[in-house]
Amino acid sequence: MIEFDVAQQRLARAGHYPETTEVCELADALGRILAQDIQAQLDMPPADNSAMDGYAVRLTDLAEGRVLPIQQRCYAGDMPETLKAGMAIRIFTGSLLPPGADTVVIQENCQEDEHGVRILEMPEAGVNIRRRGEDMRVGEVLIQTGTKLSAAHIAQLAAQGHARLSVYQRLTVGILTTGDELTPAGQPLLPGQIYNSNAPMLRAQLLALDVARVRALHAPDTLEAIRDALQSLLADCDLVLTVGGVSVGEKDLVKPAIESIGGELDLWKVRMKPGKPLALAYVQDKPLVCLPGNPVSSYAVFSLMVSPLIRRLQGRRDTLPTVRHAILQGERHFEGDREEFIRVQVGSDEQGRLLAQPFSNQGSGVISSLPWAQALARIPADTHVAPGDVVRLYEYSQWQA
Ligand code: AMP
Ligand code: MG
Repeated sequence: MIEFDVAQQRLARAGHYPETTEVCELADALGRILAQDIQAQLDMPPADNSAMDGYAVRLTDLAEGRVLPIQQRCYAGDMPETLKAGMAIRIFTGSLLPPGADTVVIQENCQEDEHGVRILEMPEAGVNIRRRGEDMRVGEVLIQTGTKLSAAHIAQLAAQGHARLSVYQRLTVGILTTGDELTPAGQPLLPGQIYNSNAPMLRAQLLALDVARVRALHAPDTLEAIRDALQSLLADCDLVLTVGGVSVGEKDLVKPAIESIGGELDLWKVRMKPGKPLALAYVQDKPLVCLPGNPVSSYAVFSLMVSPLIRRLQGRRDTLPTVRHAILQGERHFEGDREEFIRVQVGSDEQGRLLAQPFSNQGSGVISSLPWAQALARIPADTHVAPGDVVRLYEYSQWQA
């Protein structure tokens, strides 16, 4: 058996960083992976400007009860005049700071009439001014290669005037489910059959990771059918996932099928529950991962072990997302020599500490635990968990994004 962390690391490194890039419009950039460092090409703000609606003044001109005549009304987008001695310029949020002015007094602290403006409360020197370059400076690296672009990054890129970006090409991933007992949803269920839940589940997990295209095939348990389907998927996919048929049963034909097309396959027994059998193979230089057939197992294995590989193939820097810690609720004993990844809901107590509440039935066949949970909590092998014990938390929101 190999340790979970070892298997996770090996899988994460099983793929190459992408070589192909393409140009993408800013409007289409959400979720794309940057293939270039983005540098600031503008100082932001580009010039000193007002942070508030108010009056631009020279601090030394202010005195108790003094009225400053209004020299100009300067709206955002207007060019300000040079402030004359003893005068004020009416300005607004985003207006350029007039040369000669050193302070902006907010309008709430002023009284304006036909003679000018009276300052009711003395400001501190230099307040209410946004300085040139205080946010971003020309030449500074703003966003690094391998970043997945969010709406927040898009705001920053737009503010800098970047209209087109170099990004990595998106992936095509193949799924091959196997098993004579499986029927697709929408078809009548014959005696002895169950619906194929892994194919739609894995497709959804892949799409949530922003995979461009998912090709799903199903093969009955024959060597020829599995081999033909694998060859079809390998022809145009960057990565292929197989599901089921990879243990040591008589109908477990995925391993011989991969070997029959020249694949080299490492079969691992990972010290984790759910999800023990897992295999990594290369065929024609492409990675192929064999997942367990049980939906709860393949869900966990995909989330924790395949998603890092996908992030790497996508060119992302953050291949292994954050793991937080939480206090596991309830006292119980976890027996056996495998680490357990149990389905939990996540809450917090009054001190703001995270709490993990396990689903009542942690059986590896219990699909209803999947949508109920928000995270998988990692429990060391053969452990007694007492109140207050802290466990590692693999949150769906991190690990499936
Ligand atoms: P296997 O590894 O092929 O023996 O599969 C292990 C268990 O997972 C069996 O109970 C299968 O019926 C079930 N299983 C395999 N593939 C799927 C699938 N795509 N959807 C739902 N259950 C599956
Ligand atoms: Mg099977």
